[in-house]
Amino acid sequence: MTYRTRYAPSPTGAMHLGHARTALVAWLRARSKGGRIVMRIEDLDPPRVRPGSEASILADHEWLGLDWDEGPVRQSERYERYEEALDALRRRGRLFDCTCTRRELQAAAASAPHGGQPRYPGTCRSGPRHPDRPAAVRFRLDVGPSFVDALHGHVEGAGGDFIVRRSDGLWAYQLAVVVDDHEMGITEVVRGDDLLEATSLQIALYEALGWEPPAWMHVPLVLGPDGARLAKRHGAISIAAYREAGWSPPRLLGLLAESLGLRSTAAPVELGELLSDFDVRTIRREPARLPLPW
Ligand code: GLU
Repeated sequence: MTYRTRYAPSPTGAMHLGHARTALVAWLRARSKGGRIVMRIEDLDPPRVRPGSEASILADHEWLGLDWDEGPVRQSERYERYEEALDALRRRGRLFDCTCTRRELQAAAASAPHGGQPRYPGTCRSGPRHPDRPAAVRFRLDVGPSFVDALHGHVEGAGGDFIVRRSDGLWAYQLAVVVDDHEMGITEVVRGDDLLEATSLQIALYEALGWEPPAWMHVPLVLGPDGARLAKRHGAISIAAYREAGWSPPRLLGLLAESLGLRSTAAPVELGELLSDFDVRTIRREPARLPLPW
């Protein structure tokens, strides 16, 4: 079976070093296996989409040499497919309408005896509590499957009834990403490990839809020099800022390759060189701090 993965940027702002780092791993992984890459634009949430963001993200991938073979495919053009999956899940009795507001759920979580990730308390499982309100649609799930990740190894299952369609009618990420990855024939999902927890929920959707889940590889996040998740306040983190400051792609790739553990120094490096000795076992398992040059 041909290896297939994807880039899945959300066009909500500029592509930054963290996105580029994950895309670099996806590119190396696919190209080292003679596989294919699909470019998928995750524009599910129109109010958050920024004009010009998609074009700049595509240009930044190209500038770095992180090419793709298919797409761009936009989630906003695929609502019918999500609708079909929703119908299938409903027929299988896996969905229920939920009229709880975020505030009600927060209040319920705050009064729960133990902390941790708040789980949906099951309020509307046997019927919406407030039939007069617009309803979200939830997928019924106690605990999803555990799974094996190429970098993290065994990962325990996670659970709680989760939203597949929001009360404002927008599609939820969890459903869209499963439908897309399945239909695009993705054999391995390579993405940031902020989504490690969501994976068990997604596998539960694959199972409920009768589909084979892909393999998983969650790349540890990149942190700013202070150890906090990379963010705008750390300074110039967008790819465009580096390009405008005169950085070459090899120089930026060197910075990323070192932070991933693929190189022992941040000396400029070509993609081809990284590819020729790419070994997934050298990728750092811990979040990396990026020594930001400015
Ligand atoms: N669109 C998500 C992001 O930009 C990635 C989702 C995924 O790879 O499954 O963070």
